Amino acid sequence: MVARMVERGRFAPSPTGPVHLGTARTALLGWLRARSVGGVFVLRMEDLDAPRVREGAAEAMLEDLRWLGLDWDEGPDVGGDYGPYTQSLKLARYAEVLASLAEHTYPCTCSRKEIAEIASAPHGGEPVYPGTCRDGPSHPEREAAIRFRMPAPPPSFEDLLLGHVEGLGEGDFVLHRKDGLFAYQLACVVDDHDMAITEVLRGDDLVPSTPRQIALYRALGWPEPVFAHVPLVLGADGERLAKRHGAIGIRELRDAGRTAASLVGELAFGLGLIDRLEDVTPAELVDGFDLLGLRPVTP
Ligand code: GLU
Repeated sequence: MVARMVERGRFAPSPTGPVHLGTARTALLGWLRARSVGGVFVLRMEDLDAPRVREGAAEAMLEDLRWLGLDWDEGPDVGGDYGPYTQSLKLARYAEVLASLAEHTYPCTCSRKEIAEIASAPHGGEPVYPGTCRDGPSHPEREAAIRFRMPAPPPSFEDLLLGHVEGLGEGDFVLHRKDGLFAYQLACVVDDHDMAITEVLRGDDLVPSTPRQIALYRALGWPEPVFAHVPLVLGADGERLAKRHGAIGIRELRDAGRTAASLVGELAFGLGLIDRLEDVTPAELVDGFDLLGLRPVTP
């Protein structure tokens, strides 16, 4: 008999603010998925973007998620065999992987403004880097970022929820920023690999990152996880729900007297996991949870 591989899923928040309902919903889905298949659930703190990280936010996030009734088998506060589970503790590892990618990267000295001026921005999204520095830095006297040579066309992939995805993630992207910070794309791939993650469940604002990350897995010769992108709760402007939309943090609701079971009930009802609005614990939702059977999510 062939031994079945243990499924390993993860939730990877950035400690840039409080946990609100949108964050909680993605965490709940990741947790339910791992628990319903008897897998391992990993919590990773993505705190590399120092200027955006808020003091105390990481601890507060863990506490809020626990209060909701979620738990994790490995994480910053519980340890595990695949740590560290906090990105700021892995800088040497990212540097080592970046160095191993040398034949796929080049220094780029373009400024944001220069890129915006010459780049095309398909579908109103991020401008696609036109490759100005591919054959040598345009301004050798400047500090350089390190860019990855993205294959064209970018890889397509089969998303568990979205099906076939193609045509996204075009353009060479940054792995190491001019200001010395490692970029999310690099750190995320290194960590999902180091933590032996088999399934990446996350918000669908990250769909365009996935072809980039797949290209990195291939350049590194690492196996790719499966991807499942879940719809995010969006603000009226179509952007990810944030404080500026008046998104209320779990902590505020809790302080105002809401119970965890009523919040989880609201999330579960919005996801179609229960038929009427009622109190429920995450544990009560595990039995029969079917990620692939999720109906389109209403905000
Ligand atoms: N840290 C990222 C975020 O909060 C999520 C990364 C991921 O799930 O791949 O947006």
